[in-house]
Amino acid sequence: AAKGAGRNRFSYFTPALQTAAINRMRLTNDLRAAVKQNQFALYFQPIVHLETGRVHKAEALIRWLHPQRGIVSPLDFIPLAESTGLIVDIGEWVFREAARWVRKWRDEIDPEFQVSINQSPVEFQRDGRAYDGWFAHLQELGLAGSAMSVEITEGLLLDASRGVQDKLLQMRDAGMQVALDDFGTGYSSLAYLKKFDIDYLKIDRTFVRNLAPDSSDMALSEAIIVMAHKLDLMVIAEGVETAQQRDLLTEAGCDYAQGFLFARPMPGEEFDALLRAQASAEREFALK
Ligand code: C2E
Ligand code: MG
Ligand code: MG
Ligand code: MG
Repeated sequence: AAKGAGRNRFSYFTPALQTAAINRMRLTNDLRAAVKQNQFALYFQPIVHLETGRVHKAEALIRWLHPQRGIVSPLDFIPLAESTGLIVDIGEWVFREAARWVRKWRDEIDPEFQVSINQSPVEFQRDGRAYDGWFAHLQELGLAGSAMSVEITEGLLLDASRGVQDKLLQMRDAGMQVALDDFGTGYSSLAYLKKFDIDYLKIDRTFVRNLAPDSSDMALSEAIIVMAHKLDLMVIAEGVETAQQRDLLTEAGCDYAQGFLFARPMPGEEFDALLRAQASAEREFALK
């Protein structure tokens, strides 16, 4: 019996499992400290208007500057932030930091500039009043709602609860725009596009990756673009890495694109310099 118990003890709790559990606990503690000490940075990736090649908008993407591990990707800590509830404080910081930058860019460079932020389902499903603070903050900064847009995922819309619909209406009333992120990877029920007031569809990069003339992903992308335009939505293609992908999307009538072809996400200061360079190039061009 003693032998059996010994065996069980080890089979239930293998060293590998133990390490994973300890790792997770450590990372959770670290994440708590990160929120307290504000170890985050907000990066920005340009969203380019395909017809003109102009940087029109940016997506804000969070990075965790971990004191030992270096830069941690959101893919590695957002799920943990969600399961621990830390996502709420993190999301508030993202919103304020994004608002701070877009105010600067609207004031100093481009009065129509827009920054989008990501809202995970856990954040979006909070108490509706949570967003009143956002709207008040935008007002304090003298920013129109259109300075910001919010990226949500398809899964949220499947949950056809009043809560989700009310929040989308709230955003709409405040002038903020809404983008449907990673379009095509979820359940893609087209019915909800009609039901909810969405401004942008973001074609997921899994479709963009294999774009080639006459490919099935080309057909899908074209269909998404035509449908979106019929429903009065604008289309942003994600993950554009090659000139061929850009050209095929432009031909198909896609409105905007983002991806490594144009630029990787970068710190706010760098993005600021990029926008200023664009503005001065445009001024020079206008003088000629
Ligand atoms: P997402 O919202 O779909 O963001 C696009 C992701 O694609 C970003 O990854 C971006 O760096 C990456 N990307 C952009 N262009 C290319 C390209 O040409 N090729 C490839 N391979 N990748 C490209 P990132 O920054 O690691 O973010 C991953 C995900 O984490 C985001 O996906 C978003 O769902 C989530 N996330 C990021 N920041 C936040 C945040 O502040 N709050 C929340 N709730 N989620 C966030
Ligand atoms: Mg996004
Ligand atoms: Mg996306
Ligand atoms: Mg994506």
